[in-house]
Amino acid sequence: MKNISVLGSTGSIGRAALDVIGSFPDRLRVAALAAGRSLDKLAAQVERHAPSLVSIEREEDVGSLRSRLPAGFSGRIVAGPAGLEEAASLPEADVVLAGLVGAVGLRSAHAALKAGKRLALANKEALVVAGDLMVRTARASGAEILPVDSEHSAVHQAIRSGRPEEVHRIVLTGSGGPLRQRDLATFSKVTVEEALAHPTWKMGPKISIDSATMMNKGLEVIEAHFLFGVAPSKIDVVLHPQSVIHSFVEFVDGSLVAQIARNDMRFPILYALSHPDRLPNPFGRLDLVEIGHLEFQEVDPKRYPALDVARAALESGGGMPAVVNAANEVAVEAFLEGKISFPDIVAVVSETAAAYGRVPAPATVEEAESIDREARQAASRILRTLARAS
Ligand code: MG
Repeated sequence: MKNISVLGSTGSIGRAALDVIGSFPDRLRVAALAAGRSLDKLAAQVERHAPSLVSIEREEDVGSLRSRLPAGFSGRIVAGPAGLEEAASLPEADVVLAGLVGAVGLRSAHAALKAGKRLALANKEALVVAGDLMVRTARASGAEILPVDSEHSAVHQAIRSGRPEEVHRIVLTGSGGPLRQRDLATFSKVTVEEALAHPTWKMGPKISIDSATMMNKGLEVIEAHFLFGVAPSKIDVVLHPQSVIHSFVEFVDGSLVAQIARNDMRFPILYALSHPDRLPNPFGRLDLVEIGHLEFQEVDPKRYPALDVARAALESGGGMPAVVNAANEVAVEAFLEGKISFPDIVAVVSETAAAYGRVPAPATVEEAESIDREARQAASRILRTLARAS
């Protein structure tokens, strides 16, 4: 039996994870649930999965959550950042599924690694913000990081077909998002609804916008670098609109090994929870004949400038990926609130990055958080000038 702490349980990844866990009652069990303010959803999850620990964002919501729970609930309820860290390092948990969105998830993801847990990581920003620190912490404690990002789950599976020195390159696939065929001249008119309307994946708002700009793919290049220890120059991106080849690894002998599955987050979650075992999948199978044909295209840097911005941050190294990530989080939020245009998202990110010289790599979570905080302030200042101009 594997005991799992699910961080971000009421979000898109958290709900998919609970679906997976609930499908294998003899193998998987929920140890802890951590969520923000969706108390009704969380209460229903607690009733269904009976965790030993429940963590919520605000202390003042504890009573209100308790009143929603069945009288027989015997677990503990904790709150705030300390509560989240407790859920991430709970002694009885074997696996911590990090399903929070953004740099805010760094502290808990790091706590899980420090405690030697398997980290099933959907919260890619944690690795983008402090990749070296996360990898070092895992190495020191013997913890492992299993990617829940579909592309990295694919690479994790494919890369086992050869030795590390035999890897020629990693190729991450991306659907191109909802704006792949839109007239570039009309990008300033892209609405929030249009940018959110992802053609092949159903995801939360932040990652959906990141997919439309392809900043998501840029963050994934950074994530792949830290997860697999592969040089940035050996990580490529190709557009694949059908989203069934989740990525591939090319070996020195010219063989490409791909992982193919339905575009359903429950697949990479199941893999991350069960590895090295493979459990029988109850979520349906992929019919390649039904799909019929698979397409691949080059990424047009004019359409997706965010990819180059993220790549440049990785090349410049140190804390630059954290700066770019923070600016992106600020810009995406502003776009979702209707404060800036769609092209302004990348403008804010690249102007923020340009305002920085070299940024030393964060050696602690506190340093990473301080880089993140300062970059958010810098991005907010740039954002205000842009918002005034429009
Ligand atoms: Mg992905």
